[in-house]
Amino acid sequence: MNIEDVQTRLTKLKARITELSNAYYTKDAPLVEDSEYDQLYRELEELEAEHPELVTNDSPTQKVGGEVLSDFSKVTHDVPMLSMGDVFSLEELEEFDQRMQKNIGNKTDYNVELKIDGLALSLVYENGKLVQGSTRGDGVIGEDVTANIMTITDIPKELSEPLTLEVRGECYMPKTSFGKLNDERENEGLATFANPRNAAAGSLRQLDPAVTKKRNLSTFIYTLVNADDFEVSTQEEAIEFMKKLGFHTNPSSKTINDIAEIENYIELYQEKRDSLEYGIDGIVLKINDLALQQELGNTVKVPRWEIAYKFPPERSETIIKDIEWTIGRTGVLTPTAVMDPVQLAGTTVSRATLHNEEMIKDKDIRIGDTVLLHKAGDIIPEVSKVVIAKRPEGLEEAPIPTNCPYCDSELVHLEDEVALRCINPKCPAQIKEGLAHFASRNAMNIDGLGPRIVEQLFQKEMIKDVSDLYKLTFDDLSQLEGFKEKSINNLLTAINNTKNNSLEKLLYGLGIRHVGAKAAKLLAERFKDIDTLMNASKKEVADINTIGETIADSLHAYFSNIEVQTLITELKDVNVNMSYTGSTTINSNNEHFSGKTIVITGTLANYKRKELAEQLEELGAKITGSVTKNTDLLIAGEKAGSKLDKAKSLDVAIINEKMLDGYLSDTQSID
Ligand code: NAD
Repeated sequence: MNIEDVQTRLTKLKARITELSNAYYTKDAPLVEDSEYDQLYRELEELEAEHPELVTNDSPTQKVGGEVLSDFSKVTHDVPMLSMGDVFSLEELEEFDQRMQKNIGNKTDYNVELKIDGLALSLVYENGKLVQGSTRGDGVIGEDVTANIMTITDIPKELSEPLTLEVRGECYMPKTSFGKLNDERENEGLATFANPRNAAAGSLRQLDPAVTKKRNLSTFIYTLVNADDFEVSTQEEAIEFMKKLGFHTNPSSKTINDIAEIENYIELYQEKRDSLEYGIDGIVLKINDLALQQELGNTVKVPRWEIAYKFPPERSETIIKDIEWTIGRTGVLTPTAVMDPVQLAGTTVSRATLHNEEMIKDKDIRIGDTVLLHKAGDIIPEVSKVVIAKRPEGLEEAPIPTNCPYCDSELVHLEDEVALRCINPKCPAQIKEGLAHFASRNAMNIDGLGPRIVEQLFQKEMIKDVSDLYKLTFDDLSQLEGFKEKSINNLLTAINNTKNNSLEKLLYGLGIRHVGAKAAKLLAERFKDIDTLMNASKKEVADINTIGETIADSLHAYFSNIEVQTLITELKDVNVNMSYTGSTTINSNNEHFSGKTIVITGTLANYKRKELAEQLEELGAKITGSVTKNTDLLIAGEKAGSKLDKAKSLDVAIINEKMLDGYLSDTQSID
């Protein structure tokens, strides 16, 4: 490359990396997977190393990624929060070790830790009391997120000793919470997060602390700033010291002085990675001696005494057979790649969401292409990229529908939305999805009315909206496939019973945009009946704690619609209850579960794991996937295995299913 070519390439790389960083750090919505970003960044570093005279101050290699959102107050970090150098192979790791040995003059101890896939956090304590929490921001100026930090349960608000200090660590979203959050967002027609790291960042950088609280964030604390003040001289001691003060530290931290042993550690955690309850993207190697760390110092961007070894992305190759477009009850169309089944990070994968048309176009994914798959944030199968070299000749671009595949009406992009949406309120596919949602457990809970029966009722034109469910007769149901006297009566009774449901079930079941089960409960509790709610002003609705303007606007738009008003009248005509009966309240209390960290294991005869977890979370428990010394209670069903053993060894309280029944029956309502 001549110097002009180098300059052109540098300009291009810097612009692209800045664009990707902006999407990732500021919008919490990455455009490409990390390994693709890392490759571009590496190319930039190498070109700049060959041509140091071309390094500019605005290069991404010269500053810590991340920007401060103007919505937050700013915090200045007296000791900058830096990024970290990284290596991608064991050879490079050995080179790092040799460099350290050369600089120090002999072999040294390393403290090895997992690289948690979250975002960096600073916590300041005065006389033992938590006074400030902030994000890394650009390394010098971070965002003040104190109010949000206060909602994270594993962060001590008061230390076990009245010390004044600053610690740093990683804020992350457990995999189960991430899965749940994305399910909820999908249900409510909102964009899903690409991975737990972005979900954690998006959840911490919220203006409303109540939203952060709901997101179930956790932390691992790993840095003690000004360790000198506490006679702590190694990273290992710092971790112990912080643990004693009450911080949540990661149990994997280990001091090792042999590089071969570090390679074993890497291998071990590469294997364990899928079973951990949080995402990791590598390991971190830190010189254990804090005085040596200070001597080695930092570059403008990274400490010289630590390095991240990044795990290679787990990839599999397969062929795209088709792209299916499915519609949700809010009218959003989602493309899914249907592929030849392939093994990927422990599971067989044959479908992967393509999110939206932008992704298909950006990655130029075509039916018939060979693609590489990875799991975003260790969980969601995603297409990384097309293997262009394997593209058959003459393959056409993937067709993007212009009309709804179900009702043929023209598809649109609503303001600011990348999603393609069908806005025909009579679209049969949306209505069917809406009916199934109405019948679902958290909504009206009509036992036995699943999507298959809804489909038949709809096909036979017996129902066109939810009020028709209450007009179904014995004769109608006898026309359904496989329905006999007993099943007909069961379904009729199940439908009939739901007429007495409390208002929140109906509100959630109506599928009003942004109104999830919890918002529905709050609304029902506050307004007591549907007429009062329909007549409430936007302000009255928005003023309810945790409801806010988005829900208020959505409710207002919904109830202003004439067709909705007709539907409510029809539901009243068939005697569906429109009032809050107070039978349930979100302020339920149960001393056995409230504020407790609980693990569920083994087979339970009468509970579904996911539903039980939700129920316990509603009672204030935190459900986690593995037993640690922080676990308060293990619920052990039949055939409980290693978790039961671990709980016994750690002296964690254990209950069986029968005791669980008893504990749950102690639940009280606080009105
Ligand atoms: P980084 O995430 O690679 O490493 C530094 C960070 O690691 C620290 O700030 C800290 O938050 C975290 N960390 C986790 N566990 C730790 C531990 N045990 N000890 C110390 N620190 C720990 O660096 P970065 O500058 O925050 O981000 C760069 C990386 O972000 C890239 O390598 C890439 O993977 C990703 N990125 C991706 C995109 C994209 O478009 N996909 C864009 C920008 C950045």
